[in-house]
Amino acid sequence: MSEAKPEKVHCLIIGSGPAGYTAALYAARANLKPVLYQGIQPGGQLTITTEVENYPGYPNGIQGPEMMIDFEKQAARMGTDIRFGLATKVDFSVAPFKVWIDEENLMLADAVIIATGATAKWLGIESEQRLNGYGVSACAVCDGFFFKGKEVAIVGAGDTAAEEALYLSKLCSKVHMIIRRSEMRASKVMQDRIFKTPNIKIYWDSETEEVEGATKVEGVRIRNNKTQESVSILVSAFFVAIGHQPNSEIFKGWLEMDEGGYLKTIPGTSKTNLEGVFAAGDVQDKVYRQAVTAAGSGCMAALDAERYLSHKGI
Ligand code: NDP
Repeated sequence: MSEAKPEKVHCLIIGSGPAGYTAALYAARANLKPVLYQGIQPGGQLTITTEVENYPGYPNGIQGPEMMIDFEKQAARMGTDIRFGLATKVDFSVAPFKVWIDEENLMLADAVIIATGATAKWLGIESEQRLNGYGVSACAVCDGFFFKGKEVAIVGAGDTAAEEALYLSKLCSKVHMIIRRSEMRASKVMQDRIFKTPNIKIYWDSETEEVEGATKVEGVRIRNNKTQESVSILVSAFFVAIGHQPNSEIFKGWLEMDEGGYLKTIPGTSKTNLEGVFAAGDVQDKVYRQAVTAAGSGCMAALDAERYLSHKGI
């Protein structure tokens, strides 16, 4: 079978969340003629949220999908070549770097900006998916505000769950924290803070059986896995904080990552261990994970790429 002729580009951006589009905007304005591949979910994780109230510049808030259309339009207006397609394989052994799109189209790029994001992990129960966006959320910082003064539940026992439970405890009247074992994975300091917060109630050894409610979250039924007893808790929201999976699979063996698969960047930059390959947004950030921080790191990646290319004289 004959392969299509490779296409050579100056700057290739993989991913279309706030990091990818911001990188594109800056790269296009710097005349790097960026080509951006949107991936499987154009617009990224924000397209599955509802209202965004914490992105500066939108005084009345904005719907996540609408905001990502604005990001896309702005990147396109500056001259980014935005295409639908998924990066499926790379070969970073020599520059120009090879990236295959949809398994068949080979791109050759002088510089690559990776902004493939991360995917929230879900419990995988039917009611969780059905009520997603109607009280079920994987981001307390994004959605906690909508449940001010109400009782909410959160599942998870790592640093993210601890951080989000503390965040919610300042907004909500009570936070019910559902933990599947008899201990927490979160760091000691975070655990101490949780234990000292009077409006956080912990349910140890507990699994979520069902998120209750017909059209919006009204409660959660949990089962103690030692006693096998089930109880229903009345809550208005159910937050899932059981970890994220960075979308970095295709870069394994080429780029340095931590044990969770997050790409490693040189602190204070977007540079990976490979000169000419940059990373921005949630694929390299397990701590902040906000649209605005992703956008900021996308800007850094474009500036780093521009400096790299001009330094190389290509
Ligand atoms: P983690 O993988 O550390 O924790 C996931 C938690 O979810 C665990 O407690 C796990 O339980 C629980 N869990 C997983 N699957 C299920 C399930 N099906 N049902 C119920 N519970 C489940 O993810 P985090 O997002 O918390 O953290 C990721 C990394 O980021 C960590 O290294 C963390 O330290 C770091 N981080 C650092 C922060 C900071 O420095 N400020 C802030 C946030 C994260 P179990 O323990 O039983 O496996």
